Amino acid sequence: MAAGDRQHELAGWKAIADHLGVSIRTAQNYEKHGLPVRRLSAGPNGRVLAVKAELDEWWSRRDVPPPETPVLDLPVPDPHVHSGAILGRPGVWRYARWLLGGLAAGALLLSVLPLGRNVEPIGLKGDGEYLVATDGQGKEVWKAKMPWRPDPSVYRLPKLASQRRFQFIDISGDQGPELLAQYVPEDYNTRGQYLYCIGPKGVPLWRYKFGRDVADSRTTFSSVFWANSFEVVNLKGGAERRIAVAATHSLSHPSQVSILDTQGRLLREYWHSGHLRHLLAQDLDGDSEPELILGGANIGRHLATLVILDSRNLGGASSQPVGDPYTLKGFGKGTEKTVVFFPRSCLGLHEDFDIVSQIRITANRISVIVRQGVDERAPYFLIFELNWQLELIGIVQSDTYAARHRELEAQGLLKHSFSLAEIDRLRGEYRVIH
Ligand SMILES: [Zn+2]
Repeated sequence: MAAGDRQHELAGWKAIADHLGVSIRTAQNYEKHGLPVRRLSAGPNGRVLAVKAELDEWWSRRDVPPPETPVLDLPVPDPHVHSGAILGRPGVWRYARWLLGGLAAGALLLSVLPLGRNVEPIGLKGDGEYLVATDGQGKEVWKAKMPWRPDPSVYRLPKLASQRRFQFIDISGDQGPELLAQYVPEDYNTRGQYLYCIGPKGVPLWRYKFGRDVADSRTTFSSVFWANSFEVVNLKGGAERRIAVAATHSLSHPSQVSILDTQGRLLREYWHSGHLRHLLAQDLDGDSEPELILGGANIGRHLATLVILDSRNLGGASSQPVGDPYTLKGFGKGTEKTVVFFPRSCLGLHEDFDIVSQIRITANRISVIVRQGVDERAPYFLIFELNWQLELIGIVQSDTYAARHRELEAQGLLKHSFSLAEIDRLRGEYRVIH
């Protein structure tokens, strides 16, 4: 029993945060809101332990007030990156991320020192007509008056590395970090939604409106799109910078991937039938230029998908099956480098499609969490472990997977009992298209 329990347990805040897909600080903040952790020793720094099933259960019914001070989802440094692998090919971007994490952690340390105006902001909140940049203690560093009242809830959402809401980053390379942030006006249905760039002292610099009118064979969609995530992409060793933004129509399926210059001007765009809600940049092929990894669902194929794009050469729209009514009109062939389709398990077959709900990049793996069904928050899922070549290394089911299977059996939606062999069979249906 005790030995069996081991694999159901998570030791330490990093493991717990990874499991939830949030930053360590956010996980620690959740403890105040009932996150089920057990303390092995007293004091704020005492060791903690959690049971995966209890975390999943809490996560599935959570109603978590936001952390008091929203923080960036700092990438946790990979211990291997500090040693010889730093300038190794796939290691470069990870090292850059580690550096960025280090800089933000540095900003956090500075912010507790009495440095007055030199404090760099790390948090963001909405307050009436203002966006307020805050330090590590939630104190205002600057505020910017916005054209319309911002919806503050955007900055309180749980933070995933693959769903970035805002970032302080010096994109102009001169006077300190600018803020790049999703901006959702309260009245977004008439105003639209934006990526906003605000200068180091709170001076708005530019904004980019996501989306535009597009149509599939049945519907013409309005130009109101939600931003899903963005990444600042360093090309040519940082000599050239681009901003990649993934956005999805506010009510329906079309997704747009935009490539902007650092002034917010649209350079290229790619369109997709289905949600592309996750975005990361990572050099997969070892040429030191990061690829864009997008994750979501291809609605016409009913499959969870990854789309790999080159930000330097990007255009067209996703290839859909012949006669697919979701095919977007008026676009050329998409310029995908690679497309991955994940197999559907019996858990989601009674629903419209599966969907990627998280992408994590670790030492030498890409871990993709795929929900079996359309509910991105469902506590049952499969984790597909891929290498840099996007070859499938393994599939792991969540602890709650078998219980969900039994639920569907009880509802008469499944006529067989769960076995590990059915997970194994999925490996043969994993598809990579180059
Ligand atoms: Zn089954």
